[in-house]
Amino acid sequence: MSETYDFLFKFLVIGNAGTGKSCLLHQFIEKRFKDDSNHTIGVEFGSKIINVVNKYVKLQIWDTAGQERFRSVTRSYYRGAAGALLVYDITSRETYNALTNWLTDARMLASQNIVIILCGNKKDLDADREVTFLEASRFAQENELMFLETSALTGENVEEAFVQCARKILNKIESGELDPERMGSGIQSKVSEDSDDRCKDMI
Ligand code: GDP
Ligand code: MG
Repeated sequence: MSETYDFLFKFLVIGNAGTGKSCLLHQFIEKRFKDDSNHTIGVEFGSKIINVVNKYVKLQIWDTAGQERFRSVTRSYYRGAAGALLVYDITSRETYNALTNWLTDARMLASQNIVIILCGNKKDLDADREVTFLEASRFAQENELMFLETSALTGENVEEAFVQCARKILNKIESGELDPERMGSGIQSKVSEDSDDRCKDMI
């Protein structure tokens, strides 16, 4: 089976352990909630082709696979990412307070122009909320992030988070702000592949 697409973007999912990163990736790829029965090492990687403003974009998404528990998310994980979902849990202020550290790492270790969308996950647990929508949207504005509240449980805004981030990257390519040919941009263009070998080139 060969597949074609206009662009390939490397995406990351970052944020404290327990915020729902693996569930967000699973919901996006599989369109359903990942139940808790499987506590073995999660999906480390997922990919999906989406259609954004008449372009086919293949998202190659990396999950931390538990590395964040040991504060050992490696440089190679960040290298060359075009986009990232930065996740906190709306019911945990601790995960919100950690955002600045995650942002520093992402901007230092990924590509300079990485496009980041802040995701306040577990939106379905509104009764246990510790972080308001307003305060998080201010934080997002101050740090030039897009922002959505999501629920990996219900699926609300999950697809939107990935699509909005991809759309912003496409806009930057079209305006010339991002050069897809530049090494380490996390972007490949006009790829037609028969196997996954081409993807490995950019990691
Ligand atoms: P990770 O460590 O960031 O990858 O987090 P996981 O994806 O493993 O999720 C951590 C816990 O939060 C699990 O018990 C999930 O079932 C739960 N969880 C994840 N997303 C949501 C959500 O949107 N709503 C609710 N209620 N629980 C969630
Ligand atoms: Mg995980």
